[in-house]
Amino acid sequence: MNPQFEGLLPYLIAEATTWAASIEQQFLFKGQRLSPPLQERLAGFFESSIIANTMLVFVEAIQPPPFYSEARKRGIPPYDFASMEGMTFNKCVLVRSRPERSQEELVSLCFHELVHVVQYDLLGIAGFMKAYIRGWAENDFIYERIPLEVTAYKLQERFVRDQTIPFSVRAEVQGALLGIEK
Ligand SMILES: [Zn+2]
Repeated sequence: MNPQFEGLLPYLIAEATTWAASIEQQFLFKGQRLSPPLQERLAGFFESSIIANTMLVFVEAIQPPPFYSEARKRGIPPYDFASMEGMTFNKCVLVRSRPERSQEELVSLCFHELVHVVQYDLLGIAGFMKAYIRGWAENDFIYERIPLEVTAYKLQERFVRDQTIPFSVRAEVQGALLGIEK
């Protein structure tokens, strides 16, 4: 990794951790629990505590964090917040409001975001941000190659392909993390 970015990582991880905790605090009360049909669809893949404690908040757009412009000035490449459909902050999932999104697309999106809830549950907020931002920097700042995202997309695809075969997201995430943290 470029030494300039290596030096910025502790700053980015600390700021992102504070940000995620404050977003969760700010939105948790405004959130709604997963609807009963949605809970039912996800039940074969996530423990009931994950499904019961996750809050959805529908927002106009996912806003970049307050430290983002400063981080950009210090040389980090852009991260495309504007095109994000959803973003997870521990147990709180922000979802961009899109009336044209189908129910199936929402189920698939929620599956993806709940994989991140499980990752937060295993790593803690600081550990999640460390793995996410380090994974971003180590993979040339390419969103699709962030290991935590690779896992989330891989499991989401598996779910979409055949929803009649349950599997444990937690077990899959744990296995993937052992690979990441080698
Ligand atoms: Zn994701």
